[in-house]
Amino acid sequence: MKFSDRILKIKPSATLKAAAKARELKAKGVQVIDFTVGEPDFNTPEKIKEACKKALDENFTRYAPVPGFPELRQSICNYLKREFGLAYKPEEIIATAGAKHAIYAALQVLINPGDEVIIPAPYWVSFYDQVLLTGGKPVVIKTDDTTGFKMTPRQLEQNIGPKTKLLILNTPSNPTGSCYSGEELKKFGDICAGKNILVLSDEIYAKLTYDGFKHVSFVTACPEMREKTILVNGASKSYAMTGWRIGFAAAPKEIIDKMQILQSQEVTSVPTFIMRASITAFNDCDKEVEAMRREFEKRRDVAFAGLSKIKGVTCYKPSGAFYLFPNVKAFKKSSEEIAELLLEEAHVAVVSGESFGAPGYLRVSYATDIPSIEMGIDKMKKTLEKL
Ligand code: GLU
Repeated sequence: MKFSDRILKIKPSATLKAAAKARELKAKGVQVIDFTVGEPDFNTPEKIKEACKKALDENFTRYAPVPGFPELRQSICNYLKREFGLAYKPEEIIATAGAKHAIYAALQVLINPGDEVIIPAPYWVSFYDQVLLTGGKPVVIKTDDTTGFKMTPRQLEQNIGPKTKLLILNTPSNPTGSCYSGEELKKFGDICAGKNILVLSDEIYAKLTYDGFKHVSFVTACPEMREKTILVNGASKSYAMTGWRIGFAAAPKEIIDKMQILQSQEVTSVPTFIMRASITAFNDCDKEVEAMRREFEKRRDVAFAGLSKIKGVTCYKPSGAFYLFPNVKAFKKSSEEIAELLLEEAHVAVVSGESFGAPGYLRVSYATDIPSIEMGIDKMKKTLEKL
């Protein structure tokens, strides 16, 4: 079969692949402790499930408007205002099948072959391949744990060239949990404004921050970039709704209109009853989100303390998301080999740093219960300290 050049350029999502591998082992009866996929183990709040059942009973089962029901777009505007002080109108919002799909659509409507897209590393796996799918060129800026995995304004400036079209920011970050402050974001915004560069700001972990750190949205930090920014967020992580596939983009109407055209030729819309239920999520679940956030903070502390005690491992303590990204460079094996060994010997599943453009690290998702975190890290310790 002769496949398209596009599909041959990309690889399967490493996070989903690692999760599938762990699942396969579990199906064979092996007791695997799974730190792979970034997915809350909490159930979706009852209120949201009830709203979904009600929507089905009311026969919200037919085609819906491509960018989402007006009430849903309004609830997203309310959420953006309430949480981040942002003023968006419903026509500046599109509901998508997860934040991943919003990112895909934004890149598809904005990037031409040859355009350069700056991606700070460690990066979430899909940014890189989604840029490849546009024919654009990913320009990766490396960072490491010595700077808390943060890109400096100088690094950004040095990587901007005549073909630079867009910068992808992701704060709090997947895979490191690192968070940029408003001041840091403002510096990036000033550079981009001066060079006419667009920003795609993935803020899917915005509600999951710790130690009193409060997420500042890129557009709040840099209002002059509002017309040049595509803000992406969604319900998956903070509302424990990963399987529902509901995300959104907020951007100037001319960008949203183009994303609508693409969506109309692609999936039409997010499933109707899921959109109805999501109105409840964005309008009315702050308490539920806060309860999950508190629990994640406890888990982060347990996971961080455990990993820091493993000889040869150093770990940066981040203030957001639900990942730790320990440094395993002291061992004589690659992080990919270490991840394989951990799975085979300790039955602990993690994702290796290579997939995030950062060899020498492991991604540990702590979105699981504390006893499993403790047991998993204990097993990791036993295996790693033998190396
Ligand atoms: N974003 C989550 C992760 O990084 C879910 C899987 C994916 O889409 O990458 O694990």
